[in-house]
Amino acid sequence: MNTPFWGPDFDSLAATDPEIADVVLGELDRLRGGLQLIASENFTSPAVLAALGSTLSNKYAEGYPGRRYYGGCAQVDVAEEIGIARAKELFGAEHANLQPHSGASANLAAYAAFCQPGDVVLAMDLKQGGHLTHGSKVNFSGRWFEPVSYGVRQDTELIDYDQVRDLALAHRPRMIVAGATAYPRLIDFSAFRAIADEVDAILMVDAAHFIGLVAGKVIPSPVPFADVVTFTTHKVLRGPRGGMIVSRAEHAKAIDKAVFPFSQGGPLMHAVAAKAVALKEAASSEYQGYATQVVANAAALAKGLEVEGMRVVSGGTDTHLALLDVRPLDVTGAEAERRCGAADITLNKNAIPFDPAPPATASGIRIGSPSVTTQGMTEPEMAEIARLIGRAVRAEPGTGSGDADHAAVAEAVRTIAAAHPAYPRD
Ligand SMILES: *Cc1c(COP(=O)(O)O)cnc(C)c1O
Repeated sequence: MNTPFWGPDFDSLAATDPEIADVVLGELDRLRGGLQLIASENFTSPAVLAALGSTLSNKYAEGYPGRRYYGGCAQVDVAEEIGIARAKELFGAEHANLQPHSGASANLAAYAAFCQPGDVVLAMDLKQGGHLTHGSKVNFSGRWFEPVSYGVRQDTELIDYDQVRDLALAHRPRMIVAGATAYPRLIDFSAFRAIADEVDAILMVDAAHFIGLVAGKVIPSPVPFADVVTFTTHKVLRGPRGGMIVSRAEHAKAIDKAVFPFSQGGPLMHAVAAKAVALKEAASSEYQGYATQVVANAAALAKGLEVEGMRVVSGGTDTHLALLDVRPLDVTGAEAERRCGAADITLNKNAIPFDPAPPATASGIRIGSPSVTTQGMTEPEMAEIARLIGRAVRAEPGTGSGDADHAAVAEAVRTIAAAHPAYPRD
């Protein structure tokens, strides 16, 4: 290489640690040979990976640009300042913090900025699409705070805004959390804002899943409505694994202090720099085209799976993901996941609203289009993938014809993946 860059050098990894080198190559093979339909995953660009694999990983930079606890931060300050400016510009936000190590860390900081232990937080029920950090008893959110949960209407499977308001009036939460991990439709942020105002609560939007669609300008932004918006950078947004927070200027100090020093130590400066790269990419017209196709592909997948006999939860999707009730095919969500896995299609079982099955079994699957769209696939491939999923889910493993079906689907999957490679070899 002619540039002075000292970066990802696979040969040195292979020489130093062949076992881990094999894992890295094996994972690339897995990605290249199968279909990744996990709604929370994506493939970052080589530029993002280069920033991640850089010497910025070595730098201690506790604090914020211009206010560090360590010397030698001139370069990383530039990266973080560029990233903050890009985040504010892209999301029309008054303040941005790029340091949270993950989505869960961003949420911990947001809770810490606005709530005291024991405060009531109103958030979406985990069983209906909410996240672990929205009040689970095994998580800080349920252990240190007093969670009250809202859900979806049984008839429409859409968020029950009347219930949100009733619960808010009854419990007077300190904070209301909007956002989910398994909700395929748009969220009415202005309705949440009105309810929060009525009970004088902070409105936090956890946009982890869909912030990339906001960046791509294909769905409405929560930023004008929320006091604080937390998100991950590695889902549709296609950046490095990590978290981010944007907020109103009035909350800037509280947010920054809640991230560092309250809940984190030194920031991962290689990740902060990679977030800046991802934000630049996400501001491009090319990315807007990508985000548009992500939504079109999710809709095409949902439609195709309906043709295969699954029931589309809430009747459709407005985003990058869909939830499918697989009971019409006489399988559980766990079994559907296993059968797709046997054919190199990676997706996850998921509870559906009012699911009678336990979470470990579940009656549904969740599918997402971010990864296959990054690979350049469009509606015709989605229709084909839906047919392959239908065939894989109907095939019973351990029976001769079932195993043959899984092998045939895996072969077709390899053909599609080879035509649209994740991380091409050249
Ligand atoms: C993915 C997700 C998170 C957590 O992100 P991690 O980076 O895994 O900690 C938080 N909230 C929601 C809604 C998510 O979907």
